[in-house]
Formats: sequence, C-alpha cells, structure tokens
Amino acid sequence: MKIYNSLSRQTDEFEPIEKGKVYMYVCGLTPYDHAHLGHARTYISMDTIKRYFLHKKFEVLHIQNITDIEDKIFNRSKETGKSPLELSEKFQGEAMEEFDRLNILPADHYPKVSEHIPEIIEMIKKLIENGHAYETKTGVYYSVSSFSEYGKLSGQKLEEMEHGCRLKVDETKKDPADFALWKKGPDVLTFDSPWGEGRPGWHIECSAMGMKYTNGRTLDIHGGGRDLMFPHHENEIAQAEGALNQKFVKCWMHTGFLTVKGEKMSKSLGNFIILKDLLEKYPPYALRLFFLHSHYRSPVNYSEENISSAQTTAERMFNFIEHADELPVSGGTENTELRKKLHGEVDGFYKVMDNDFDTPNALSHMFGIMTECFSEMRKEQPDYPAIAEAKEDFKKMMWILGLEKEKKKIDPEKEKEIDSLVQDRENARKEKNFKLADEIRDKLSEMGVILEDTDKGPRWKLK
Ligand code: AMP
Ligand code: ZN
Repeated sequence: MKIYNSLSRQTDEFEPIEKGKVYMYVCGLTPYDHAHLGHARTYISMDTIKRYFLHKKFEVLHIQNITDIEDKIFNRSKETGKSPLELSEKFQGEAMEEFDRLNILPADHYPKVSEHIPEIIEMIKKLIENGHAYETKTGVYYSVSSFSEYGKLSGQKLEEMEHGCRLKVDETKKDPADFALWKKGPDVLTFDSPWGEGRPGWHIECSAMGMKYTNGRTLDIHGGGRDLMFPHHENEIAQAEGALNQKFVKCWMHTGFLTVKGEKMSKSLGNFIILKDLLEKYPPYALRLFFLHSHYRSPVNYSEENISSAQTTAERMFNFIEHADELPVSGGTENTELRKKLHGEVDGFYKVMDNDFDTPNALSHMFGIMTECFSEMRKEQPDYPAIAEAKEDFKKMMWILGLEKEKKKIDPEKEKEIDSLVQDRENARKEKNFKLADEIRDKLSEMGVILEDTDKGPRWKLK
C-alpha cells in the first residue's frame, strides 16, 4: 500500500511502526461558527482513508483535537458576550451531528485545548530546557533557528520566512520568524502558568495532545488541509521533535482545498456554504460522492450541479444493490467471460485504492461492475452466482467509501412500540390468526414500517 507523504514529497510504501496498528492524528475544527463544506472536504477524505485501513484489518487509533482556545473564538466571544467555551461547545456539537450524518466514523479521542493546559505547559517547559524556547515580556517563543530541520515539511527557507514576517515584527522576539508558545496577559479566558497568566499559542496544542494520546510515540499518519502545512504543521514538528528528541510523524497527509472560483472556501473569505444548509437540500451521500470523484489531494471546485449529479449516481449504486439483493444466488448459466471481467474490476478497485487512495479510479471500477451486472441481468439465464459475488464485493466497496443511505433516526419509544407489534403479529401467525396478523401488518405499514419475513424471523426497517 502506497501513500504520498508530504514530508518525503513522494509516494512511499506504507508500513506502520507497530504491526497492524495505525496511529492517526487529524487537525480538528476551530469551532467559532458553523462547519462549512470545506471542512467536510477534509474530514470525508480522512474518513475514507481511515475506512480503508479498517477494511485492511488495521487497528486505527484516531485522535482529532478541538481548538477551543483561539483568537477567532475569543473575538466571537467578545462580539456575542457568550463564553468562548460555550460557543465552541455549541458549534462543535452541531458539527459532530453533521459529520455523523455524513457517515464519518467518530475519532477515539477529541481532546480540547482547554482541558490540556498542564500537558501544554509541560511541553513548553521541556522546550525551554532543551534550548528551543525563550521567555520575553509578552510570552514564550519558539526559536526557529534552534531547530536545524525547521522548514523540512514546507520546504521553506528560514531567510524567506524571516522576510515574510518583517511587516509584523514583534520587538520582543529574537527573530521575526519565531512563534508564540504561550501568550502572556489578560484575555477572555486565561490560565495560570510558570510564565504568569495567559494562554497557549495555536500550534503547541497538536504537538502536546498528539503525544499524550500516543504515549509519546511517533504518529504513523498526521492529516489536515493543505493550508495547515505551513506554519501549523511545520511548527508542530519543531515543537514535538524539539521537546522529545524523536520523530513526531512518519507520514504527513494533506487534503486539497474545496475552492470557489479558484479560491479556498473559508469563513474569512466569506465564500463559504454552511454544511447544515447543504444537508437540507441534498442527502449526505451526494456530498460524499461529489468529493470522492476527486482525488483527496486535488482541489475540488464547488459545483451544486455536480453534487446533484452525484446524488443521482449514488442512487443508481444503491439501486444496483437492491436489485441484485432480490435475485437468486445460484442457478442461471455460467458466464466465464463475465466472471473474468468482474474479477478484473474488483482487483482494479483495490489496486488503485492501494495507490494513495485513488477514489476517482476506484469509482470507475465500481461503475464497471454495475454495467457488467446490469447487462447480465437482462439475459434470460444470467450467471446468478457471479452477480451475487460481485454485489457482495460492491457492498464492501460502498462501506469503504462510506456510501450508505442515511439511517433514519428513530425515537426509542416508537422503536419499542414497533418491536412489540411485530411480536404480536408473530404470535397471531403462530396461532393461525391470520386476520389479526394482517391487521397488525397494515398498522405497521401505516406507521412507515416495512416488514420482511426471513429464515431467522421477521425483520423491519423504516420506509
Ligand atoms: P479550521 O476549522 O479552519 O481550523 O479547519 C479545520 C480543518 O478543515 C483543517 O484541516 C483545514 O485545513 C480544513 N479546511 C478548512 N477549509 C477547507 C477547505 N476549503 N477545503 C479543504 N479543507 C479545508
Ligand atoms: Zn493541528
């Protein structure tokens, strides 16, 4: 399995440090407002990658931070009079519900900055001890010139960075490119520290929390949007490696932007579409498939037309499964040519996914399976076992891509009522009271329940 590593700038064979286990950290939200489609772009990409690892039977430890201490949240707090933690809690909660609807698997840990101040302080202390950080009147700063490998991820040269920083020179810093680990002074929310009241700078959280939840070992994968490569990820490396003297991350993965007319979709540019609004118009799988049509590293241009056509395509894919599910699994006439083609498409899917998660080409193979099977189904004596096998493979692929129909949320009280009616109908049937059994079936149907009698007893789902 090969993955493009932004650090080595090439597609490398992926070998996790611990056999069978992937330690993965993804930079999380700064929840100062509603999540937008750009966020969905990055988290759907990272989720598909995680799903592929899970499919390959890797155990995945997924850590995703919540940046609840940050200028944008503090500014929002000043504007609204709400506490920063209350604000971030609200927007984070909303985003989690939307991500759940997008079928994004939850992380194992969602560490918040506000709950990890001791770990952050410890790391800053280590950095001072190791000669990588210094204190001034305004805060504690990381001395970028003390870390010889600074710039290794983004490929930037220190002189260029210093030049870029000249405009906003902070007199108290030794070097314009140095960045804050701790900001001193009063603010909307502050914490005690050995350097007085203040709050952490932005970058330190990911180094400190990433290390905490892996017990100080190297991460196999660290992901986030391309915009984070510099300075955020460059600084994460300098902090973690400067404090612990060991490699922070083996493989850096960066997702391409969702753009609007060539510009990154972002809150600050004002060209954003709120995820919640889009999910009122389109089912979540439409958005998922829209993104999967592009490689995770490529930019995607926002197009409502393409989201709508992704909806139609996803529905054809569900339709294929439903159709094939109704067919017999044996009989018909064996078609060796078809079997060869179907095996070729299935192998093709895994081959391109193994090559840096190439979802656009993986989808082409899935469409190939559908075309072959639909044409076989039109024959008088289709090769039923071949279709059944391909359909099972297809279902696995749908799981990997997270393409599933949204499960309707059901109120637990209603669920109990349905279960009890289904049981009553079973009892009526056992007693050969078919009239009552039919009446109950009709009642269930009015409640929007589809009943299926299987070998293992009755099963039900909502319409
Ligand atoms: P933020 O809430 O801005 O800290 O962003 C959270 C994550 O979403 C980061 O990994 C960003 O890189 C990513 N992100 C934000 N906007 C976009 C976008 N337009 N396209 C892709 N990823 C984005
Ligand atoms: Zn981060």
